[in-house]
Amino acid sequence: MTGSILLPIDLGHPESSDKALSEAVDMARAKGALLHVLTVIPDFGTALVGSYFPKDFSRRALEETTSALKTYVSEKVPEDVPVEVHVRHGTIYREIVAAAKALGVDLVVLASHRPEMKDYFLGPNAAKVVRHARQSVLVVR
Ligand code: ADP
Repeated sequence: MTGSILLPIDLGHPESSDKALSEAVDMARAKGALLHVLTVIPDFGTALVGSYFPKDFSRRALEETTSALKTYVSEKVPEDVPVEVHVRHGTIYREIVAAAKALGVDLVVLASHRPEMKDYFLGPNAAKVVRHARQSVLVVR
């Protein structure tokens, strides 16, 4: 196996990543690469907002998101592709960039934006990942 690919998924709109997933799977197969699938639980911004959530909210969100991501991966990623799942918490684009660095991936593959967001060609997180990641980024339209 050589290299690895990071595929960030917005679990709130998983269908918008179908094309990106299919590209990432093809590339992982072609290169014999490990596929890392990541979802980020977004930050609530201020500590004040966070204080209204139940104390065990973070732990439950992490558990439930991890389980949802594992289900997504088992349904969508073919069994012959080696895959690992990752859940992080924070500012979406920062966590994607940090995960790419921490995992030492060679390539990030993501969808440009949700299909219904027709006013722009590159969503806010996709744009920031392109700008800040040190790795090559494949934006799938
Ligand atoms: P839009 O606002 O149209 O959804 P984004 O830039 O937020 O545009 O989304 C583009 C891509 O960014 C998604 O397909 C996904 O790869 C990544 N992304 C967005 N949100 C998340 C998230 N919570 N966790 C992981 N990746 C995400």
